[in-house]
Formats: sequence, C-alpha cells, structure tokens
Amino acid sequence: MTMLRIVIETDSLRKHSPWFEHPENPGRIKYVIDGIKRNGLTDYTRFVKHSYEEKEVLQVLNRVHCRKYIEYIMKCRNNAPCQIDPDTYFSETSYELALETFDLSYNTGLSIGEQERIFLIMRPPGHHAGKCGKAFNAPTQGFCIFNNAAATVLGFKDRGFKRVAILDIDVHHGNGTQEIFYKNNDVLHIDIHRNPHDFYPFTGFPEDIGMGRGRGYSVNFIVLPHTGDDSYIHIVDYAFKLIQLYGPEALIVSAGFDGYKNDGLADLDLSQYSYYYIGRKLSRIDVPVVIVLEGGYGLGLIKGIPALLNGLLGIEKQYSTTITNNKISLYNLMIARKIFDTITKVWRQSRE
Ligand SMILES: [Zn+2]
Repeated sequence: MTMLRIVIETDSLRKHSPWFEHPENPGRIKYVIDGIKRNGLTDYTRFVKHSYEEKEVLQVLNRVHCRKYIEYIMKCRNNAPCQIDPDTYFSETSYELALETFDLSYNTGLSIGEQERIFLIMRPPGHHAGKCGKAFNAPTQGFCIFNNAAATVLGFKDRGFKRVAILDIDVHHGNGTQEIFYKNNDVLHIDIHRNPHDFYPFTGFPEDIGMGRGRGYSVNFIVLPHTGDDSYIHIVDYAFKLIQLYGPEALIVSAGFDGYKNDGLADLDLSQYSYYYIGRKLSRIDVPVVIVLEGGYGLGLIKGIPALLNGLLGIEKQYSTTITNNKISLYNLMIARKIFDTITKVWRQSRE
C-alpha cells in the first residue's frame, strides 16, 4: 500500500511572478491542481504554507551553493525586479519563495517516513542551479535559483542516510544537480534527457560519468527528438536497474514534465503512458521517495502528473503509447546499453 502525499506550496500560486510573458509562472501550479482535480486525486493533496527561519536556511544553502553566489542572490533581492540572466527573472518575492521551496525540500528529506512517497508541487525549479549559479558552463540558469533536489539530499544525509539516488526525468539535463554531486559516490545521479548536442543546457553527454571518487555515479541517458513512449520506457528500465544495483536508502525524483508531447519547450513525443510507467516503477521502490517538481509548462503538468500519480498508486489505467521511428529507437537503445555497461563496469572495478 503506497502512502502518498501531494504537498502543494500555496505561496507558489502567487509569489515569484514574472512581469512579462514567461513560461515559468504561478499559473503552472494551477495547471497541476486542475489535473489533480480532474483525476479525482484531491484526497491526497495538502495545501501548505511552509514557514522557515532565514538564518537556518542560509546554513543549508551554504552547503549547496558557494558564498559568492548566495551574496549575488542577496544583491538581486535588493535590486528586484531584475534578471539573473536572459532566462531567469527575479521579482520582489523571488527570494522568499526560492528560500521557502529550498527549505521545504530539505525538511521533506529530513522527515519523510520510511513507507512514504511525497510529491512537492512547488516553484521555482532547481535542477539547473549549480554550485555557483550556472553549471558546467551552461548559458543560463534556466529559470532556477536554488537547487531543491540537492537540499533534499542534505535532508536525508542529516538524518544519517549514507546512499541516496536522484532520478531526473525533466527533458533538460539537470546540470546543476550533476555539478553539485559530480565528485560524490554517496549520491547516484541519473538523468534522462534530450540529446544535448543541440538542446538546452548543452550539457550531460553520455561520456560524462563523474570525477574522482564520483566516477561512475553521474549517469546521462540521452534521447533523440521525437522519442515516443515505446522507446523511452526502455531507457527508464535501464535507469531503475541502476538504482536497484546501487541500493540507495532514499530516492529523489527531479520530476519535469516538459518531455510531454506539445508541452511547449521541447520535442519529445511522450504521453501519459511514460509517466504512468515511471509511477509504477516508483511504487515498487521500497525506500522513501521525494518527488520535486522541476519543469513542465502546459499539457505535461495537466496530464503527465496525474498519470504518474495513478501509476504510483497502482490504479489500473490503459493509456495508449506513442510510437518511435525505428532509427531513433535503435540509436536511443544503443547509447543506453553502452552507458549501462560502462557504469556497471566502473562499479565492478571499484569493488575489486
Ligand atoms: Zn526542463
């Protein structure tokens, strides 16, 4: 029996609001609530205004981001409204919301029960925020201010967990998260994303597998444009196989829904089927699971999230699949197989 809680951060519905047209805006949370209502899942939701002590949050922030970056964000707070970079806006209430979201993520890692799955519906997203802002020389921070998934990792670590895994299913590479844990072997970071050769943030190639002690603990699965469900789920299988082999004490999902067909910012052809499939996989994991919302700007939020939740709850659904062109499928699978073999080989060698 899955114990699921969907936590909706109410401040996300009004704070950190752009003063011009921008896909990352409070309306996203309304889409999520709409999708949850339409699918009869409201019983699992809880609206939360998370209160925090700024001083305490800053202590955790200092363990994730460099001092210079935090000082820069403080400066932005004084200059708001302003732009951190051409993609990432900063309004008068951005600092408060980014801090609240970061602390909510940290506290969820710290307090989630052994049998629980908690989905945090909140903004702004975080997976592009690296140690000092832009990660791995990416052009921008892609709407992100602080790294929420990293905060959840610290929450788990502070309660004594030794091994934590992160699965990032946003269509964009979670370069911030990967950079933060690139030299760690106590955090396995698996990222399934659109081939970055010609796609934002242009990072996260299969050959990037971590450094030093972290070699083999950063995993980048890439998929081509117009990858449909039938091909995507094979990559998901590889990711879960690695998670199972690693044997983490907790799992964090950086859940972006922008891979959904016609969500707006990307060109994968995923539908409800893929998200339901991921939900089913998550329902079989026997450690605490925290799902943090990353991207997703339209249809992905309205349809992808309920599909994932239905899978997680074990509700029987028949979703039809989108089909991938053979050439694309073969390419995706060939690369995935190679990555899987490389990573498991590194793990075997490090044990010998
Ligand atoms: Zn994204």
